[in-house]
Amino acid sequence: MNDADAQRVGAALSGLGFCGRAEPEEADLIVLITCVVRQSAEDKTIGRLESLKGLKRRHPSTMVAVMGCLVADPATLRERFPWVDGFFRPSDVDGLVDLVRQRFAPETAPALPAERTPVSVSIPISMGCDHHCTYCIVRLRRGSQQSRPAGEILRETREAVQRGAREIVLLGQNVDAYGHDLPSQGLNLAGLLSQVHDTDGLLRLRFLTSHPGEMTEELISAVAGLSRVCPHLELPVQCGDDVVLRRMGRGYTREQYSSLLSRIRQRVPGCSIATDIIVGFPTETREQFEATADLVTAERFDSVHIAKYSPRPGTPAALLADDVPQDEKERRHRILEELQTRISQEINSTYMGRTVEVLVEGRHRGRWRGRSATNKLVFFDHDADWMGELASVEINWAGPWSLRGTVKG
Ligand code: SAH
Repeated sequence: MNDADAQRVGAALSGLGFCGRAEPEEADLIVLITCVVRQSAEDKTIGRLESLKGLKRRHPSTMVAVMGCLVADPATLRERFPWVDGFFRPSDVDGLVDLVRQRFAPETAPALPAERTPVSVSIPISMGCDHHCTYCIVRLRRGSQQSRPAGEILRETREAVQRGAREIVLLGQNVDAYGHDLPSQGLNLAGLLSQVHDTDGLLRLRFLTSHPGEMTEELISAVAGLSRVCPHLELPVQCGDDVVLRRMGRGYTREQYSSLLSRIRQRVPGCSIATDIIVGFPTETREQFEATADLVTAERFDSVHIAKYSPRPGTPAALLADDVPQDEKERRHRILEELQTRISQEINSTYMGRTVEVLVEGRHRGRWRGRSATNKLVFFDHDADWMGELASVEINWAGPWSLRGTVKG
């Protein structure tokens, strides 16, 4: 979401004549796009804001703007960080652009051509979320779900592809519920996927994040039946124990989650699955944690994003004692990391000798970097310009986080 906001802010600012700078000291304008989903993310943001205070003293004309989930109560933030010129809620690109216009009178600056359009462009399809997961601050900061009209999404897709994008990633906190709040439009995510799918020149289509309680058979059929929709799903499970799942307010059991996965795997053979897990939710016992480790062992996810629980202000779980000690959270985190590293390595090793289609997104340390349809990061050496192309790569090295190979002629 924040990457997508950053892309949009970047495009709007280059339209006003701004270009990117590597060093904050050289910038006329600094925009921080903030995340507060965990305390550690919030701490990082605050640290960054504190360090900008000195910069602002040295360069008083530099404009500092803060956007994103940190911005719940601008008045309080203004008091706490008086050196910040403006606070904007998540995705409020227009608000930011208005202030920048006032400040810099950019009618004097020629609009610059936008920087090269990324091969993979993310397009938000809904803002906010209607779930009430007890640990989660997102709904408090981004509000309830507001789907964007399909017409806007299709237009942005066409424009992005015309500018050179080859992959579109449809984004939302819970994309499976797309359209529920726009009943007159009569379009759900499966319908939206099939419309976006038909965009001329589009090679790949992805969407995230899904909710296990809302992934319908119709959506699974869309993934199975639409050739450009990648066989890769982001399906956060959060925990493998039913009591904890209920306390988290997730709305499904472990059994329901596992049966969903087996239906997906039946309908979309080879579908890769990524998940999120929280360890150390209040009252989580060692046995309950073991149930999560069992689930990870049994389901063999392609990747798992593991977070240590941290209480977020205003959420129902923050009223519970945060009673799993920090070192125990770290132990559970480490156990799952080690387990998943082994599983990811095993899964990736099955790619050895296979040829995969890689959509090339850029260069990294002298190599081409791209992704397989199953979202595996793939590197290869080659002299030709592969940017934005599909390369057939024969895999000859596999690690837990990436693959390497050679282009087949
Ligand atoms: N709707 C999005 C939520 C984004 S938050 C989604 O379902 O992915 C991304 C991840 O952060 C969540 O899946 C969860 O694993 C983690 N997370 C959210 N709140 C958290 C908290 N209070 N402590 C630790 N991890 C949390």
